[in-house]
Amino acid sequence: MSEFPDSARQPRRRTAATGLRHRLAELRGPDHPPRPLDARALAALAANPGCRRRALLDGAGVDKARIADALGSPSSFGQSQFALARGNVFEARVKSDGGSELLGLVHARVDGVAPEPTPDLVRAPDLSAIGPEGRTARTALALREAVESPGTWTFLDHPMLALDVAGSPAFLEPDAVVVHPDGSWTVVEIKSFPMIDGAADASKVGAAARQSAVYVLALEEVAARMPDAGVRVRDRIVLVCPKNFSNLPAASAVDVRKQRSVTRRQLERLTRVEDIAAALPPGTVFDPELPPAELTAAVESVPATYAPECLAACELAFHCRDHAREEGAVTALGRPLRAELGSLTTVDEVLAAAHGETGDPADPTVAALRRAAQLRDEALGGARC
Ligand code: SF4
Repeated sequence: MSEFPDSARQPRRRTAATGLRHRLAELRGPDHPPRPLDARALAALAANPGCRRRALLDGAGVDKARIADALGSPSSFGQSQFALARGNVFEARVKSDGGSELLGLVHARVDGVAPEPTPDLVRAPDLSAIGPEGRTARTALALREAVESPGTWTFLDHPMLALDVAGSPAFLEPDAVVVHPDGSWTVVEIKSFPMIDGAADASKVGAAARQSAVYVLALEEVAARMPDAGVRVRDRIVLVCPKNFSNLPAASAVDVRKQRSVTRRQLERLTRVEDIAAALPPGTVFDPELPPAELTAAVESVPATYAPECLAACELAFHCRDHAREEGAVTALGRPLRAELGSLTTVDEVLAAAHGETGDPADPTVAALRRAAQLRDEALGGARC
């Protein structure tokens, strides 16, 4: 047991948190408000936990799209304005009746044994509050009140949840959370891509599942803070999409157990933001208004682990790809190949090992490369790669 009571530890924790906030504000540069991390960004961050560059820039709330523009490698990543507008219109349509249609879909897809969500059984508390911390506290209170009202359905429209990511808090806003009559919680994700004959594009469903898994993890943290209530966060989320290109909603239950455990493991592997910041050269700032050479030096001072998957997940992908290619890094060729090559990290090292100039012949990777080079030479009549 600690010699310090909790009340004595609190101010020290607050001081550390304030110090970190100041340090992160310095890294963003003056007059740049933090860009909040959303679940989509968190799922992408969890997909590349070895990338310190992304962990630091996301943790500090740096606007990576502006940095990419300033570096001359604008990103093609992100949703189009048209898709965003279409998604907002569909979401408003699905929730327009106070959530009763949406609750009907949740009842039908994941909780058919519960009483139907008739208007007398439905609660929809107001979740408005000041600032993300206030909204997070209001959501936690609404969830507790819902659990203490068994037999009713509670519809939480755009609740706010907090999740600790590499030592800094991320505030997350699911489309909706439903509290069932048995007190369990379900995440509802509303998307604008169509569900045709009950099935949607598998890659888009996968992305929605990864995003929802982040919400499930954040809800589990809320549930852990009310152990007396014995809350169960359901591991099947409800995905709502337009039905067959109409604006009528269709829903399906998606099991996110695998995505939840992968994301949890990956988020735990992230290096703490303050540790990455401590290793930076003094005076490093990620201000998009810096001259390009200074900004490039700042970005390059943080190690990155580029992989082709970054192209679909990170605003800095073109910049990192160019640098990975310049360095001849094998990560640019894809993670599976990188894993096969063991300690050989550049194309030059791989070629030298394949041609017998370096490497231990007893190493299975080196032996396989030499065999491949020999077969290639034979096939091409002695021409060398
Ligand atoms: S694009 Fe660059 S910063 Fe973004 S995740 Fe990939 S390596 Fe990291």
